[in-house]
Amino acid sequence: MTELATPPVEERTGVKRISHWIGGRLVAGESGRSGPVFNPATGRQSGAVDFATPEEVDAAVQAAKKAFESWRQVSLAKRAELFFAIRELVHERREEVAKLLTREHGKVLSDAIGEVTRGLEVIEFCCGLPTLLKSEYSEQASTGIDVYSIRQPLGVVAGITPFNFPAMVPMWMWAPALATGNTFVLKPSEKDPSASLWTAELLKEAGVPDGVFNVVMGDKVAVDAVLEHPDIKAVSFVGSTPIAKYVYETATSKGKRCQALGGAKNHMIVLPDADVAMAADAAVSAAYGSAGERCMAISQVVAVGNVAQPLIDAIKERIPKVKVGDGMDPSSEMGPLVTREHRDRVASYVENAPGEGATVLVDGRDEAPGDGFFLKPSLIDNVKPGMKAYEDEIFGPVLGVTRVDTYDEAVRLVNDNPYGNGTAIFTRDGGVARQFQFDVQAGMVGINVPIPVPVAYYSFGGWKASLFGDRHIYGPEGIDFYTRGKVVTSRWPDPATSKVDLGFPQTR
Ligand code: NAD
Repeated sequence: MTELATPPVEERTGVKRISHWIGGRLVAGESGRSGPVFNPATGRQSGAVDFATPEEVDAAVQAAKKAFESWRQVSLAKRAELFFAIRELVHERREEVAKLLTREHGKVLSDAIGEVTRGLEVIEFCCGLPTLLKSEYSEQASTGIDVYSIRQPLGVVAGITPFNFPAMVPMWMWAPALATGNTFVLKPSEKDPSASLWTAELLKEAGVPDGVFNVVMGDKVAVDAVLEHPDIKAVSFVGSTPIAKYVYETATSKGKRCQALGGAKNHMIVLPDADVAMAADAAVSAAYGSAGERCMAISQVVAVGNVAQPLIDAIKERIPKVKVGDGMDPSSEMGPLVTREHRDRVASYVENAPGEGATVLVDGRDEAPGDGFFLKPSLIDNVKPGMKAYEDEIFGPVLGVTRVDTYDEAVRLVNDNPYGNGTAIFTRDGGVARQFQFDVQAGMVGINVPIPVPVAYYSFGGWKASLFGDRHIYGPEGIDFYTRGKVVTSRWPDPATSKVDLGFPQTR
């Protein structure tokens, strides 16, 4: 392994080399394979990220395995103290990492700061780790016998993360994993990997011992090495549904615990009694924020009855006011998409919509600024099941509208959809909203809230093809996921009363 002091920048091109972080140090990759990292606002390559070999993944796992021996012995009080230090550093330096996110992902700086702040909430939740790891004790469960439960860490655990939240989604994983005494190997998205190295340096500065947190950069080769590695006990994955399914099936077939969060198609139902202006504000914010590259973005509005036309008019009126530009410009509200390929794929849905029988009301392919991967907001009416614009997770600034006559039809659409991540209803009728919460098949439900990402002391996760596994991420289920239970039955009898008894132990 070649150790690096600071990441080298190729002088002539300004392209930064982005390497692995193993055992508390930057380590240059030796595979000879790498991928380009772009500034999506300019379209220029800013980095080259090393792709790990299985041997390099193994080096990270060995560092984590060694660190686990002492990390699991660290007292809860000391670990909590470290988490408070991490919390302070992330809070202090959130703008620094936000700038990295904007430069590699493209989201506007205020949104990037929002991402870090939501991740920070998970770190803050983990500061309460002594309370989170408290368990149960039954005195005198049987005569002279006490029974208690404890939760212990799994060992080395891994996280594989998507491009759209390069700081927050890893925080959803490493924070509860480390808080509960595990050591961690992160395989971040190869599209915007720098935030993970920023995190590694910050954790070291906070006092987290070397080897507790490691980063291996890479593609499928690195992911497969993680899934195959016998010393990795659990895998958390967030990304698209086909890869989530593959990761879940492979990891569990190797005996690992796995939670794999997948894609989404989030419907926002607007009932005839809703406040139209409020619903339009919410739809525009939730569809085009972060250029629609959020797994909780609203991609489909379901307009019930006669609310459709006024709602569409109100959305159309708002779209030209969304300021699209470089995320570093404080006046920008929406940045570019992550890569040129992704931008072109998203644009193809707008291009193909008329051929499918839908109506393009606003075409975002017009006049996108500069050489970056920009696509302005698009709005498509009369989108129906069976059309690609309806069936696919577009993951860009394209909002579809489906018109239906009744509440029942609207709910059926959501429930028939293969995804079940988030959904929202806009209404002034509390009784209908309550019925919706009862009826709907999705993991996260918003009532007049378009992006219902749960606060850090609840857990985040979808239903159906949006989650493989039975544990949601972060919050109480995150603590559960990264620990396993042990139940101790103890007695301290007088040896004089001891005798052989071959009967099954009775609780009397
Ligand atoms: P992706 O599935 O392409 O990549 C996710 C991770 O898997 C990356 O680390 C990538 O390197 C790796 N990967 C990609 N192809 C692979 C392959 N063939 N074999 C093994 N590993 C592979 O997802 P993305 O494009 O980075 O992120 C966007 C997707 O993530 C969207 O579908 C979005 O809905 C989803 N997402 C879901 C949630 C959620 O909480 N449910 C949150 C954020 C993003």
